[in-house]
Amino acid sequence: MSSSPILRIESVAKTFGPITAVDSISLDIRENEFFALLGPSGCGKTTLLRMLAGFETPSAGRILLDGKDISPLPPEKRPLNLMFQSYALFPHMTVRQNLSYGLEMERLDKAEIRRRVDETLAMTDLTQFSERKPEQLSGGQKQRVALARALVKRPKVLLLDEPLGALDKKLREKMQLELKRMQHEAGITFIIVTHDQEEALVMADRMAILRDGRLLQVGAPEEVYERPADRFVANFIGVMNFIDGKVGTDGLFEADGLRLAMADAGPGAATLAVRPENIAVAASGSLPVAGVIAEIAYHGLDRVLHVKTAAAETPLQVRVPASGAGAWRIGDTLSLGIDPVKCRLFQ
Ligand code: ATP
Repeated sequence: MSSSPILRIESVAKTFGPITAVDSISLDIRENEFFALLGPSGCGKTTLLRMLAGFETPSAGRILLDGKDISPLPPEKRPLNLMFQSYALFPHMTVRQNLSYGLEMERLDKAEIRRRVDETLAMTDLTQFSERKPEQLSGGQKQRVALARALVKRPKVLLLDEPLGALDKKLREKMQLELKRMQHEAGITFIIVTHDQEEALVMADRMAILRDGRLLQVGAPEEVYERPADRFVANFIGVMNFIDGKVGTDGLFEADGLRLAMADAGPGAATLAVRPENIAVAASGSLPVAGVIAEIAYHGLDRVLHVKTAAAETPLQVRVPASGAGAWRIGDTLSLGIDPVKCRLFQ
């Protein structure tokens, strides 16, 4: 994978009257990257995507594609393609016609159109449906047609706005892997907007977390999951336990019943963040933090114990293998251990 930025977003902002939808965002997206824009509803991700596509004009900043400022270009002149959430397929046309249409508009010759459409149908597993109309297809198949129609034009960058939003959970999980495969095969840079953090973790090479129009963190899924930049990101990506306490002049983090030596901690109020899979659990008395099980949630592969402790306001979530957890019952007392190396401290 080349690491040169194909797309450079330079201090881009968008205001709608008094509302700042996007607040001076700078971001480089690399060639052939699967990049996710992630954030809660209203954080500005769709507005940013629409500015890339040319459907909104930035209030400030520049957007460079391959080093050239594309801000003055209308959507159809940009080598980017936006796949809409609603799919927007032509209902009276077959799948093949839906794909050919955009290429006919470009006045490509017939043989070339046929070749490119066949290739794209094969890549998206739609060859056998090529003569069907959209109404004769399932939700997942329609979604693939919308994707194929965007891919057949061979944009340098494909923008996808919640592309899997309309699918049920099972199909969405299948399509996440298929999208990734198709992106890889097509060798096209994908920028996807999603509010689903699991989806971003599964699909993206890198992701950007947005909140209130601002960029909070950019990184590979592992980086963002393991080293979240702040408390908001920590809470938004995956499940995180927070324990409020303070760091003393000796550098120890202290909360009720808990003392941990944290690297680089300064004295003062602090919040310890620890993932459910990074808390050890043992019989009462053998680890430092005493707790009582308030709830047990079964997830198939594992169970999550919700443990009340004096250290944290809300019960701590602790992930244990389903097979080994059979012995635990609601109301049991146990003890928890936290490895400081696997925690983050927010001060
Ligand atoms: P969602 O996940 O709900 O689609 P989003 O992160 O994509 O949210 P945007 O649609 O980009 O968020 O909206 C960002 C902010 O800008 C919101 O507060 C929204 O209400 C506002 N906004 C978006 N478009 C307009 C508009 N045309 N006029 C006024 N305000 C707008």
